[in-house]
Amino acid sequence: MDTGKIKSDVVKRVVAQSNKLVALSHKIHDNPETGFHELKAAKWLSAYLEISGFEIERGICDLPTAFRATYGSGSPAIALMAEYDALPEIGHACGHNIICTAAIGAAVAAKPAIDQFGGRIVVLGTPAEELFGGKAIMAERGAFKDIDIAMLVHPSSHDLSSARALACITLEVEFFGKAAHAAARPEEGINALEALILSFNGINSLRQHINERARIHGIITKGGDAPNVVPDHTSGTFLVRAVDEAYLEDLKVKVLSCFQAAALATGARLKYTWKEYYAPLRANTALAEIMATNMRSIGRDPQPIPDRASGSSDVGNVSMLVPTIHPEVAIAPPKTSLHSVEFRTAAVSAGGDRGLIDGAKALALTAVDLLADKDLVRKIKGEFLSAK
Ligand SMILES: [Zn+2]
Ligand SMILES: [Zn+2]
Repeated sequence: MDTGKIKSDVVKRVVAQSNKLVALSHKIHDNPETGFHELKAAKWLSAYLEISGFEIERGICDLPTAFRATYGSGSPAIALMAEYDALPEIGHACGHNIICTAAIGAAVAAKPAIDQFGGRIVVLGTPAEELFGGKAIMAERGAFKDIDIAMLVHPSSHDLSSARALACITLEVEFFGKAAHAAARPEEGINALEALILSFNGINSLRQHINERARIHGIITKGGDAPNVVPDHTSGTFLVRAVDEAYLEDLKVKVLSCFQAAALATGARLKYTWKEYYAPLRANTALAEIMATNMRSIGRDPQPIPDRASGSSDVGNVSMLVPTIHPEVAIAPPKTSLHSVEFRTAAVSAGGDRGLIDGAKALALTAVDLLADKDLVRKIKGEFLSAK
């Protein structure tokens, strides 16, 4: 059977699953589960793949809501990553209900290509993208060790062959001061809230003198207990982002100095922890070109990989290990912000459902190209190795 025939079959196989995929996407949207609590989503998605003939391993990498579903054997091993976590409070405002259902739809649709050409489709259920960088943990624990190429489709306000993303690290801080009556004995107190406010001011001063593409932003998670008590304990969470890892290292030192200076000025004690690290997303251009061609073949109009990175994703950590792309399908009007109520609505709109089906088609067609042509895989890997 030629590749063209398999590709048209694969598209038909996505269409044949449409009702089930859309229903599952809506069910996951209606049952939002935040990072590492995605019990229902992981169960429903892995069950779908199991019924469709995939071999399932649940709770991989010591993460109860992660899974691996495999069809076929040998190489190339194409990983389709499925994100299914929601955001706290606002729910599926990043549309991960579409990412995961597109991945499983594509995997099931692409089975004939495995039967024809050999190789493996591996759906990796990757929890906690938003809060804890689940893929970073899975990457560390070897989930991508035997994978040749990794991809997912993320919903967006535009079609894109692959996104870039900034390196990002989380900084948790606490200040410890001394409580006192805020009116009667303020001179006895050490104000942990002033230390945190001073830190913000220091960062605001720093911001003027950093690389224009770097980002520093944060929130106060505890500001005190009562207005008439000098706060003796405060805490905050900050994100520091940069285009590359080297600049991020420079910036970390400068940002930390803002907190240390505030501790010195107020007498409060600083405790800090650098936490989740998201590597910059290095998009593979050869792979993105194949994806773009397939997106155009189903009526999408993907923009090329942008010069500027925007947010951050744990897909970045995957892109350090294997050739990776992070294409996007439009489901909402241009400039609609992710993580907004509007985007949450779009994720189950007619446009959202179309994005899911088109995303599944684009992933499946790209998988067929990779399975059918070993030279393409070699070219993609060659680019990856030379970029290292
Ligand atoms: Zn998000
Ligand atoms: Zn997202």
